[in-house]
Formats: sequence, structure tokens, C-alpha cells
Amino acid sequence: MNSVKPCIIVLTAPSGSGKSSVAKELLDAFPGMHFSVSATTRARRNHEVHGVHYHFLTQEQFDQELLDGLLLESEEVYPGCWYGTLLSEIDNSSAAAPVLLDIDVKGALNVKSQYGRDAFIVFIKPPPLAELERRLRSRGTETESSLATRLDRATEEMGYAHRFDTVIVNDILETAVTDATASIGAFLESHQNQ
Ligand code: 5GP
Repeated sequence: MNSVKPCIIVLTAPSGSGKSSVAKELLDAFPGMHFSVSATTRARRNHEVHGVHYHFLTQEQFDQELLDGLLLESEEVYPGCWYGTLLSEIDNSSAAAPVLLDIDVKGALNVKSQYGRDAFIVFIKPPPLAELERRLRSRGTETESSLATRLDRATEEMGYAHRFDTVIVNDILETAVTDATASIGAFLESHQNQ
């Protein structure tokens, strides 16, 4: 652990809410920010690169990381699919070099409970379910069954929005990015002065 105070920004949103687009824009808006690459046991999608989008691990490898105490938090986000944040991603963060996490609701609340004022958790509120379903279908990465699981989970996750530091509505990407940039910018400034 280094002696600099960690600085963690967490983006959480149901699958298909446009969260990755918001994350990409935030990384451009804050040049010192870096993206936390999670570990996961889910299968790699065609366009995904090991070590860039995720560290794709077998269940045995993931369990070993857990046993070795290398994960800050972990969740079985979908049945049989584990995801976890590596502690090493947070250790190198600071107000000048914040780390951006794209993790689920429970993971976000877990990070907040461990890091308090060093973490800022942002909920990206998705468009209505019908639009969410349309986006997920057009992405073409889901089967009917995994689509249904993701939509069920989206409904469940929306019930947690009020526990977040801020809620950003993602109807229009530009507006969502402007709103997220403003509230994260304010957090970073106050964190720097703490
Ligand atoms: P996907 O399979 O679409 O890449 O991600 C599925 C869900 O897992 C998303 O909600 C994503 O934010 C979440 N997720 C990704 N990495 C982590 C992680 O390290 N921890 C937790 N708790 N959730 C994660």
C-alpha cells in the first residue's frame, strides 16, 4: 500500500445503459484517470482483449486470487460468472491519478463502505426497459436467456440508485457525459483539498 490517499470513481449501471460510452468519455475528460481492469470468469467476447477489457481467468485462477487476498471486492454478477476488482488497481490511485471502476451495484456499495470519502460512486440511470432491451439486442452479444437475465438484473439494480453519491440520467449521451464530468470534477477538487 502506498501512503497517498486512494481516489476511486465508480460507475455503475445496468447492462446496456451506455455506461462504457460514458466511461470512455470520462477517461478523455480526465487525462490522469486510469481504468481499472477487473478479473472475470466469464467467456471473452470476440472484440475483447485479455488485460485490456478484463483479465479473463478460469474459476480456479479466480479462486486463487481471492485466497491470496488480491481482490478488493468480488461478486457472482451472473450465475456462474464471477467478477472482481484487483487491489493493485487502487494502490496506485490518487487525486491526480484517480482510478475508474466499472462494476455492479453491490460492488460499488462495497467499495464505498471500505473507502468512504475516498470513493465517489455514480449511478448511471438507464433509459426505459424497452429501450434497454433494444440496445442489448442490437449489440448482438446476448442469447435470449442471457438477455432476460440482464433485463431482470437491470430492474433489480435500479432499486439501489438512491444509495449512490450521484445519479446521472443517460437518455442523451452528451448530456450524461457533461453531468458526470461536472460532478466527478467537483469530487476530485474536494478530494484534493481534504
Ligand atoms: P459484462 O459482462 O457486461 O462485461 O459486465 C457485467 C457486469 O459486471 C457489469 O455490470 C459490470 O459493471 C460488472 N463488473 C465488471 N467488473 C466487475 C468487478 O470487478 N466487480 C463487480 N462487482 N462487478 C463487475
